[in-house]
Amino acid sequence: MIAFIEHGFHHENDAESRQNDAVETSDQGDPALWKEALKEIQGTVDYDSIFTGLAGKDFGGINRTKPVAVIRPAGSSDVAAVIRAVQTTPNLTVAARGNGHSINGQAMSDKGLVIDMRAMGDHPSLNVVVASSAEEDWSNSLSYADVSGGALWEEVLKRCVLGYGLAPRSWTDYLALTVGGTLSNAGVSGQAFRYGPQTSNVTELEVVTGNGETVICSEFVYPDLFFAVLGGLGQFGVITRARIPLQKAPDMVRWIRLVYAEFDDFTRDSEFLVSQSKENSFDYLEGFVFVNSDDPINGWPSVTLDPDQWFDSDYIPPGSGSVLYCLEVALHFQHHHHPTHVDSEVERLIQRLRFVKGLRFEVDLSYMEFLLRVKKAEQQATASGIWEAPHPWLNLFVSKRDIVDFNRTVFNKSLKGGIGGPMLVYPLLRSRWDSRTSVVIPEGEIFYLVALLRFTPPYPSGPPVVELVKENMKIIEHCTKKGYDFKLYLPHYETQEKWKQHFGSQWPRFAERKAKFDPMAILAPGQKIFSRTH
Ligand code: FAD
Repeated sequence: MIAFIEHGFHHENDAESRQNDAVETSDQGDPALWKEALKEIQGTVDYDSIFTGLAGKDFGGINRTKPVAVIRPAGSSDVAAVIRAVQTTPNLTVAARGNGHSINGQAMSDKGLVIDMRAMGDHPSLNVVVASSAEEDWSNSLSYADVSGGALWEEVLKRCVLGYGLAPRSWTDYLALTVGGTLSNAGVSGQAFRYGPQTSNVTELEVVTGNGETVICSEFVYPDLFFAVLGGLGQFGVITRARIPLQKAPDMVRWIRLVYAEFDDFTRDSEFLVSQSKENSFDYLEGFVFVNSDDPINGWPSVTLDPDQWFDSDYIPPGSGSVLYCLEVALHFQHHHHPTHVDSEVERLIQRLRFVKGLRFEVDLSYMEFLLRVKKAEQQATASGIWEAPHPWLNLFVSKRDIVDFNRTVFNKSLKGGIGGPMLVYPLLRSRWDSRTSVVIPEGEIFYLVALLRFTPPYPSGPPVVELVKENMKIIEHCTKKGYDFKLYLPHYETQEKWKQHFGSQWPRFAERKAKFDPMAILAPGQKIFSRTH
């Protein structure tokens, strides 16, 4: 089937239209040629401003661009056809767009093409293979899911758990993100301390490279491409399929929050727990900073897990600072486990922790409810209009060496009033990350994820977004000036010079990978790492 929808590119006014057309024509070479080539694909090509408008926005809401067309591929051969068509032009670029949940235009292609990977989300090749006995221990398990690069993690969850009682072992907090989108970054949540990021939990990929070749790769077959693409920021190829190992899914989760007044106690306990064996720790561990006040968004009420729970501030030790800390842990269990068994397991793990007694909150919920917990927050934020507002978020990895100073100088000073959303901080272990992937992280075994997830009402009800972006920049400058060992997670830079600094000693490897797999720099221009060449 050839589906080719040309509605004509719509412009707000004629003068702008003529100007843009002039730029677009010189950028694209002869549009007739590549448009002709795209007529061969099985999916759809859309030039309508409704579609290109959507593909020119993202969750961050800070950048706006104008792609010339949006392609909804029917399969990997369409993705390859698009890349080959783009190769024939002097300047056209192409971005795979997952679910557009980037903050800084990373999935955009200004005056280029956008491949809407969600179109492949329900591709029939999505397949679950169950080993004869689904081992709880992944290393012994042969079960896996072959999922499309455009599938959402929440689709993977529902299919694997409801259909087979199995689940991937490493997640993100929020699951309306695509498999290809998170694997292009890292994919981190409270399971990463044990299993590593999602980039450490994939055994095979199908990738369409910037050369237009479709390659199946793994640790053993074309490993250079496999590891380049993982955490590769979309620079080397489009992930059209991923093989995700599965383990037995638990039925239930006990979700627990423990409050700390002292950062030292919080870090000691969280570092202790992430360093223990599976038997002697929780199945999930995260943490966050909150404001020591009754502010409904940033303060005490943000800690409780159930409307029936009450944060009794009388328990807060006298002399506590402007911010407090919350360790968030979860323990998996099965329906057949007796409640007293779960209680005693939790007590065993918790007994030596130094949280503020009296400030402990817990609920039991199903595994699916737990993994979909952010969906509730999304629904509330959508109702209040905050989900659609700009999100100038900042994500960092900060070394254990520097996290105490970061806490003193950032959380307790510039951010002591909160940011209108979660301020996550929790430890991860370097040894769980594969250094062969393209991700860069701080030195040292323990480093912290710091996520400043700002949710503020749109201006003028909330602060202007430029002010918040400036605040983020100040934090980054502060970390640089202080000589912290840190890296941006979900990085964003405007110049190649800055990208070289970001990658540090790994830059030559990253540039070599680009020269090999996308020598014309066709892919993911929104990352602003390389410029298109002829
Ligand atoms: P996009 O934003 O669409 O794309 C991101 C990049 O990947 C772009 O460069 C794009 O070109 C490239 N890309 C997309 N698909 C492919 C593909 N198939 N092949 C090759 N390249 C591709 N991250 C975490 O690690 N943990 C979290 O808990 C977490 N929670 C989040 C919650 C929310 C509400 C939001 C908005 C983001 C969160 N993130 C989290 C960040 C998220 O993982 C990244 O922004 C991710 O890139 C978003 O996935 P996406 O499918 O929307 O990708």
